Amino acid sequence: GHDTCLAEQNRPGEALAAYHRARARGGAGLIVVEVAGVHESARYTSEMILATSDACIPGYRKIAEACHEFDCAVFGQLFHPGREILQAPNGTAPVAYSASAAPNERFHIMPRALPKNLIREIVAGYGSAATRLISAGLDGVEIVASHGYLPDQFLNPRINRREDEYGGDFEGRLRFLRECIAEIRCNIGDGALGLRICADSKDPQGLERRDVVEICAALDRDGLLDYYSIAAGSSAGLRASIHIAPPMNSFDPGYVAEGSRAIRDVVSKPVIVTGRVNRAGIAEEILARGDADLCGMTRAMICDPELAKKIRGGRSEEIRECIGCNQACIGHLHLGCSISCIQYPESGRELVYVESGHGQSRPASSAKSVMVIGGGPGGMKAAAVAAARGHAVSLYERAECLGGQALLAQKLPGRGDFGGLIENLLREVRAAGVEVHTRVEVDLERIEAAAPDVLILASGARPRIPEIPGIDLPHVLSSWDVLGEGTRTGNSVVVADWRCDWIGLGLAELLARDGCRVRLCVNGMMPGQTIQQYVRDPWIGILHELDVEMIPLLRLSGVDEDTVYFEHTLSGRPVIYEQVDSLVFSLGHEADNTLERQLGDYSGRVIPIGDCLAPRTAEEAILEGLQVTHEL
Ligand code: SF4
Repeated sequence: GHDTCLAEQNRPGEALAAYHRARARGGAGLIVVEVAGVHESARYTSEMILATSDACIPGYRKIAEACHEFDCAVFGQLFHPGREILQAPNGTAPVAYSASAAPNERFHIMPRALPKNLIREIVAGYGSAATRLISAGLDGVEIVASHGYLPDQFLNPRINRREDEYGGDFEGRLRFLRECIAEIRCNIGDGALGLRICADSKDPQGLERRDVVEICAALDRDGLLDYYSIAAGSSAGLRASIHIAPPMNSFDPGYVAEGSRAIRDVVSKPVIVTGRVNRAGIAEEILARGDADLCGMTRAMICDPELAKKIRGGRSEEIRECIGCNQACIGHLHLGCSISCIQYPESGRELVYVESGHGQSRPASSAKSVMVIGGGPGGMKAAAVAAARGHAVSLYERAECLGGQALLAQKLPGRGDFGGLIENLLREVRAAGVEVHTRVEVDLERIEAAAPDVLILASGARPRIPEIPGIDLPHVLSSWDVLGEGTRTGNSVVVADWRCDWIGLGLAELLARDGCRVRLCVNGMMPGQTIQQYVRDPWIGILHELDVEMIPLLRLSGVDEDTVYFEHTLSGRPVIYEQVDSLVFSLGHEADNTLERQLGDYSGRVIPIGDCLAPRTAEEAILEGLQVTHEL
């Protein structure tokens, strides 16, 4: 189960049904639909599903029908966040409730202790929400007691300081969850009832493994649950929340399996494990070791909805593997937007790109000749989609191999998996039958000779060189010089980072690991400000361990032989660093419009996409590659 932000007016609708239909069609055995609030106090985002009235039933019915059409079982998650409120619907802070008035470190919320009448309402809410989901045709429900949400807050002695029957000893702290489970069971008859819980909160203030094992063993003795779904982490702390969607190169694939094993050893019902299970082989190993009975996959199936079908058909090598970048899935969610995938932007946009072609690329009404200039992610996606739709596509790249800036991005520390994006797109380019030309600099003459029906420009971008005193000095280097050319810096380095993204963080780590003294000066509130939180936060932790000085709110204004000059972006006062051996800058990119300018009066159809249109990230380039070719 995972939030999608695809609900409409707090109800499941066509977009969410189409999203799940794509995964059911792709061979999923069981889909667990995202959290649904069981009480008005459970609104933790403005967009979430609420199962507090019968208005949710028609939408759930659509999902049930979509999944059952492909013999896929479907359950729904029942949810109360307690004090873990992410956003308020009207901009004011709602009253958040918890077991006790214990503050939340991550969201800076001080909750109110739940009065007993509200506890009774919430318990009843679990029951009536479960009734609605089952009456809509779902096969089961799952109570979310994971990640520091309300049931977990009752279970945790560091949060639950109550002195009534819902607090105190183990039995008291378990009472709330037990009442919820009993209420749901009463309402759903034979429907499946599962428990989502974290084997390890990874939070010094959270539940520990031994607590969770004891809880699961006690609930198993009660005999009301049908399965246990095991995850890791907690929403309550910055460090612990990373485990909600662990980023690339941070934790071993399938690392939660050790925890699921501990729980499987004490319960009698099936155990599901999730957590960076991104490959069939990882899942197979977990099952073979007996660490779990089933493996749950979230981002793996956001990235490739046909994953299960490909495994069953012996086509595992065709799977588009999730690279754990978190950019368009949970990254979008944290921005309050529908989830998608940078590699597969059709995800979350099924009504536009998938349903129109009944699950495949919609065939073109007439085949055209398409010339794509630039073999970065955007050009590759455009070429692959156009060719899959039946167009005759040739793709030109001036470098030795395809990949564009993604080739540089994968060289940053901790970003090695980003190269998976190139491999996946390459496979799609080849499978679609694109004619690929590398080491070819395309000019107007070549375009006129080819006379394509459509010319797609994906020529990318190059580093922006700021017009500041000293920028031409030999010890001033761009990020591309260091990453691409391997140019060495001196020992004392200032990194000037305007983008506040992966590049500044990665350069700082790279240089610090190389033994340099590094000052990372960012023109923003913090390093990594513009990237997804679970990618940024552990990186900041690493830089702290490496003694990198991180200085916010600085605008680069000049450099000389051994001094770098900044202005504070708020006070305007100068900030000066002396005895600097090298300045490395990551100040954004400028579009490479060389060919576009040459085209002048060219009369053919020209469509620019990606960074040559306006420098952004691989996500926008790939999305635009899809958008322009879907309509050809
Ligand atoms: Fe995986 Fe990145 Fe796609 Fe999210 S956006 S599903 S992390 S590849």
